[in-house]
Amino acid sequence: MKERKIILSEKEMPRKWYNIQADLPNPIQPPLNPQTKKPAGPDDLSAIFPMSLIEQEVSSERWIDIPEEVLEIYSLWRPSPLYRAYSLEKALGTPARIYYKNEGVSPAGSHKPNTAVAQAYYNKEAGVKRLATETGAGQWGSSLALGCNYFGLECTVYMVKVSYHQKPYRKSLMEVWGADVYASPTDKTKSGRDVLAKDPDSLGSLGIAISEAVEDAAGREDTNYSLGSVLNHVMLHQSIIGLECQEQFKLVDDYPDFVIGCCGGGSNFAGISFPFIHDKIRKDKNIRAIGIEPKACPTLTKGAFTYDFGDVAGYTPLLMMYTLGHDFMPNGIHAGGLRYHGESPLVSQLCKDGLIEARAYGQEGVFEAALTFARTEGILPAPETAHAIKGVIDVALECREAVEEKTILFNLSGHGHFDLTAYDDYLAGKVKDVEYPQGLIDQSIASLQKLL
Ligand SMILES: *Cc1c(COP(=O)(O)O)cnc(C)c1O
Repeated sequence: MKERKIILSEKEMPRKWYNIQADLPNPIQPPLNPQTKKPAGPDDLSAIFPMSLIEQEVSSERWIDIPEEVLEIYSLWRPSPLYRAYSLEKALGTPARIYYKNEGVSPAGSHKPNTAVAQAYYNKEAGVKRLATETGAGQWGSSLALGCNYFGLECTVYMVKVSYHQKPYRKSLMEVWGADVYASPTDKTKSGRDVLAKDPDSLGSLGIAISEAVEDAAGREDTNYSLGSVLNHVMLHQSIIGLECQEQFKLVDDYPDFVIGCCGGGSNFAGISFPFIHDKIRKDKNIRAIGIEPKACPTLTKGAFTYDFGDVAGYTPLLMMYTLGHDFMPNGIHAGGLRYHGESPLVSQLCKDGLIEARAYGQEGVFEAALTFARTEGILPAPETAHAIKGVIDVALECREAVEEKTILFNLSGHGHFDLTAYDDYLAGKVKDVEYPQGLIDQSIASLQKLL
């Protein structure tokens, strides 16, 4: 029998995270204070983040110890299995070897608890009592609710309204783990009220929900803010994914030519790819890392590389990144986790420097890929993850054309058990390709020139 699962024992779990800031050919530009437009120092961030995370944010240490308390919670589902996708390979008739890392085995069903647990731990250590955050599809909110639950913190989640209605069971899950959940925009914050005044039917966006959560955290002494992607410390925590993959590849004496992940804020892609980019930079390994995004939110493929706010109201520091403009209002596509206007500054810099690549796909092809995967490998992927799968299938078919036995690794960032409404719509023929109009992107980006 062929071995499908490549498993590490708990004892073999990595004890350190990998920080790619130690190895960047060109360092990232510093975040800027939104008022002064000068580089933001620790004081600018300490109102909403604990010092330990601020230190990780700017650290250039290559390896950072994972605290024992965090490892203990990780061991509930880590090390996660790496699978060889024999059935998918056969269906595609490709000579390529396809592997996937299954992050859907976490309690929340995605990679996000890797950073949620760490962030809850560091905030608890700093004496914080409550965390406020935003969530798109509900994956991040439920992950942070889980982390807060384990470390005895209160948790308030501003959930993008379109997802609040599309994915009611994500809200239930957050409440099971003890969080308070509100549909954003709310009337609880000034930024929410401002949006509602202009558009009472606003479907919300991650940018708006971030404004609300940051405002909540900045206004209360006992409360910090927590972000599920984009920031450097999040990329750091997610590196455990790729580090485990490297150990697992040693067991089968293989090594990827392609590393593929979907890109929202960049964290699951960074998590699986950065340890391999380390090998590319320091060990001359010839890997290609490809981030996959929706055509409806084409940040890396059509955005501008420039300073922009992380949120709509302009409360967050300005980050140097690929962006579609902070007032970008994406269509109500099903991959809620990929509807963010910006991109991790680290992923952005690597893309700018040609160390990673990006591709964008329309929704119809993405859902078709998801069904191909579900009908071969059996796992129903999250719609976000399905973007990565579409990219993998394309690369595998390119390998078939070229008759090349390449090795492809991708991150199965989450399962789709809470996304069945989206699959219902697809099966009913209601999912259509939506491309964000170039004119609107140009308008949004043009308005950024005035920021600095
Ligand atoms: C949140 C999420 C994403 C997108 O976020 P990244 O920070 O880009 O990883 C992708 N897949 C799943 C399953 C998610 O929950």
